[in-house]
Amino acid sequence: MPEPASIRIAVIGSGPAGFYAAGHLLKASESCEVDMLERLPTPWGLVRSGVAPDHPKIKSVTRVYEKTAAHPRFRYFGNITFGQHVSREELLEHYHAIVYATGSPSDRPLGIPGEELPGSHAATEFVGWYNGHPDHTDLEVDLLSAERAVVVGNGNVAIDVARMLVLAPSELAPTDTADHALAVLAASHVSEVIVLGRRGPAQAAFTNPELLELGELGDADVIVDPDELERGLAVADAGTENDVTSRRNVEILREYAARPPVGHPKRILLRFLLSPAALLAGDDGRLASVELTRNELVPTPDGGLRAQATEERETIPAGLVFRAIGYRGLPLPGVPFDERAGVIPNRGGRVTDVAGGSPLPGEYVVGWIKRGPSGVIGTNKKDAQETVDAMLADLSAAGGESNGSAAAAGARHVPREPDAAAVEALLRSRQPELVTYAGWEAIDRHERALGEPAGRPRVKLTRIEELLRVAAAE
Ligand code: NAP
Repeated sequence: MPEPASIRIAVIGSGPAGFYAAGHLLKASESCEVDMLERLPTPWGLVRSGVAPDHPKIKSVTRVYEKTAAHPRFRYFGNITFGQHVSREELLEHYHAIVYATGSPSDRPLGIPGEELPGSHAATEFVGWYNGHPDHTDLEVDLLSAERAVVVGNGNVAIDVARMLVLAPSELAPTDTADHALAVLAASHVSEVIVLGRRGPAQAAFTNPELLELGELGDADVIVDPDELERGLAVADAGTENDVTSRRNVEILREYAARPPVGHPKRILLRFLLSPAALLAGDDGRLASVELTRNELVPTPDGGLRAQATEERETIPAGLVFRAIGYRGLPLPGVPFDERAGVIPNRGGRVTDVAGGSPLPGEYVVGWIKRGPSGVIGTNKKDAQETVDAMLADLSAAGGESNGSAAAAGARHVPREPDAAAVEALLRSRQPELVTYAGWEAIDRHERALGEPAGRPRVKLTRIEELLRVAAAE
């Protein structure tokens, strides 16, 4: 029996979505060979640089990805930037398919006056900073001048940011929080964090374990004003009344509202029906206060509830604001992008030329850059399966070959030179400091060894030069 011809796939991005796609592909067909291209020297995407450092259990999902990476038909090429070291067209010459798995690395702005003031941050950059993402190592977060911080948004990122700001040094010490952030957080003068929901408690996007965790912090009380809570619940919401998570969130919030503060040195206030209208500077030009607008809930044509500003205003002194109102995808050079949705337009994972348009042969998408920044890590497993099923159906389609022009689903792309050695040579010629999986394993060992004496999972290297030096020593 002749060996089946290999099907060569390039996955762009090494976060959960990319790894689930790679894992599904390697399992589905013995002829699939997967190369993963990653901008950073290090893999795992938001599992390394997004998941909060005090949530090590969530990070243990990398064991599944390590199994995929150990597969003989898998290769990792780190420190390779798509569109800079290699173009979409070049990859289409070498691979039967490209899978874009680049996530949503950017943030959404609030669009209010004062947003650019020193002291106003995107949660994305703060999260990257405390997690040691090399893009954010030099971020200046002034936790010494401010005693109160405001976090805008009612999702799990808002909770992560609020919690990280009030964790006790003893709670932070055993984590893999980047050393530069550990030092700043340990010296922090922030004692109050206000988390703002523009809508009510029932509409919050928190998940139950994350909300419950706020009530168990060693150094901080969680405070909910009973009147504000009930005001936020005054308008019935048909959309959430049968939602188990929302109902449990409301129960937890009612427990918080009824709970007398223990008297911890720090506190988190969860407030509702409030939107920042402007960020105001003090005499020193830094953020000094936040002007808030009180909202009311009004029905939308689709049966939901939206926040509508009232005339009521409130100004609270605050030296820091973190906007945690969602991530946003970024366009990739030469790849279609839906600016409005911040995603690569697609139909069930097949990249289309425009939103609602025709599939492009050989191009697929998974994860947040496919569906937008929602869902937990595991959501990407099913999401990647949908894309892989579509790709395998296209690749096994008898006819409809194409070299890149728009074609209907089912058309397959035929690369000019699907040769593993040729593409590696091309990538190495463009990026001599390419990091292989063995290079990452050297970084991993090094970081773990640094963490061991202090009982920490690792001490992260946070500069590209350091990471490359350790990888090259391998
Ligand atoms: P998210 O869950 O979509 O929450 C975004 C929040 O921002 C919502 O409360 C939204 O309110 C609010 N918002 C949006 N625009 C706003 C504006 N202009 N002004 C005020 N508020 C605004 O996003 P996320 O927190 O970034 O999380 C992203 C995903 O990662 C989520 O699926 C989350 O569960 C997941 N995640 C999970 C964990 C975990 O499992 N531990 C940790 C972190 C993140 P509206 O509802 O009114 O739009």
